[in-house]
Amino acid sequence: MNINIPRGTQDILPGEVEKWQYIEQKAKDICGRFRYSEIRTPIFEHTDLFARGVGDTTDIVQKEMYTFQDRGDRSLTLRPEGTAPVARSYVENKMFGQVSQPVKLFYIGPMFRYERPQAGRYRQFVQFGIEAMGSNDPSIDAEVMALAMTMYQELGLKSIKLVLNTLGDLESRKAHREALIAHFKPRIEEFCSDCQNRLETNPLRILDCKKDRGHELMANAPSIHDYLNEESSAYFSAVKESLDLMGITYVVDPTLVRGLDYYNHTAFEIMSDAEGFGAITTLSGGGRYNGLVEDLGGPATPGIGFAMSLERLLLALKAEGVELPVTNKLDCYLVTMGEEAKSKAPGILFDLRKAGISAEKDYLDKKMKAQFKAADRENAKFVAVLGDDELANEQINIKDLSTGEQVQVPLDEAAQYMKDRL
Ligand code: ATP
Ligand code: MG
Repeated sequence: MNINIPRGTQDILPGEVEKWQYIEQKAKDICGRFRYSEIRTPIFEHTDLFARGVGDTTDIVQKEMYTFQDRGDRSLTLRPEGTAPVARSYVENKMFGQVSQPVKLFYIGPMFRYERPQAGRYRQFVQFGIEAMGSNDPSIDAEVMALAMTMYQELGLKSIKLVLNTLGDLESRKAHREALIAHFKPRIEEFCSDCQNRLETNPLRILDCKKDRGHELMANAPSIHDYLNEESSAYFSAVKESLDLMGITYVVDPTLVRGLDYYNHTAFEIMSDAEGFGAITTLSGGGRYNGLVEDLGGPATPGIGFAMSLERLLLALKAEGVELPVTNKLDCYLVTMGEEAKSKAPGILFDLRKAGISAEKDYLDKKMKAQFKAADRENAKFVAVLGDDELANEQINIKDLSTGEQVQVPLDEAAQYMKDRL
């Protein structure tokens, strides 16, 4: 029987997985500097969380969720995104009552969406995201964008651009919504069926339609910027000022809309300009979601966050030809000569490992020459050669493969000798 990997998923093999580990470590480093703490929520949640939290007019809820009944007849869903679970946990664990506010969290883990797989779009993908909950200060909006940009920049991407918009507050959005309906309604039959449904439920999302983006009504659609009330305008200006202070460049795009329903005020995406990145140019997106926590039964709490997938990040790195400084170096390969030495090897190897040295030996009964070859192939810094004669004198030969230098040291000093030189 031949069983293949499910469509839209991938195996990440040794050789590649080191890049993932490097990126994950970078995310954790940056979050430490920006003071975001890790949160780990379950892979599955009650379906209602997403239906309510993500918004039931979104693509995610309408057609992308992996939903199943468990044996207790509960409807559960593999998480398609991280914000609703974090908001749920925030409410459930009463984080709004914590002394230290705002609550700043990050997550890294797999998400699941039933999508048509293509480059940069998978059915299981890994998102790194952050959420800052409990502050309405525009500088935290800027901080979230700064963190996302820092991640890409420190990994070595150059062709990235921050695209910024505001969706305004509820009042501004309402006025804009009515203008959008009036604009599209007379010719809505020229749009796709999704857009026809969106006209009444969520007309803002028409602007985000991938099928109808070329329609002439799109270009002159009412801009949210003409419907911002004073407070929303001031908020947007303050966000931009904070970005300016940090020296982060951005372009304002009044047509930028996020796919999820719960956003207001700040919305942003980070795009790649790199040649060869492909049809999908968005690397990550985020925004402010001031209604979400309340919708999930918590006190009214402002929040802002973003999420990126590691898959798209890796695509961008590849498109820009960036090599991550990943190493899988071996400190010491233990070569044995003779039966006595071979039989003692497990203990010596274990001692090296306990002393903090990465160490390997042969398990296939290879001749000495082949053992040296293996050491080379694994990029060992040192080869420790143990023969029956050395063993009798409790000595071992250590050869530095980079310099060719070779010394004999007492067996119990071998670890320290190498550690001093690593
Ligand atoms: P898109 O418009 O590309 O479908 P989205 O609006 O659905 O994106 P979000 O829900 O905001 O995306 O998710 C944030 C980020 O997660 C995206 O910017 C992208 O980096 C990543 N992402 C979303 N869906 C996928 C997927 N199916 N495969 C890989 N990465 C994804
Ligand atoms: Mg999507």
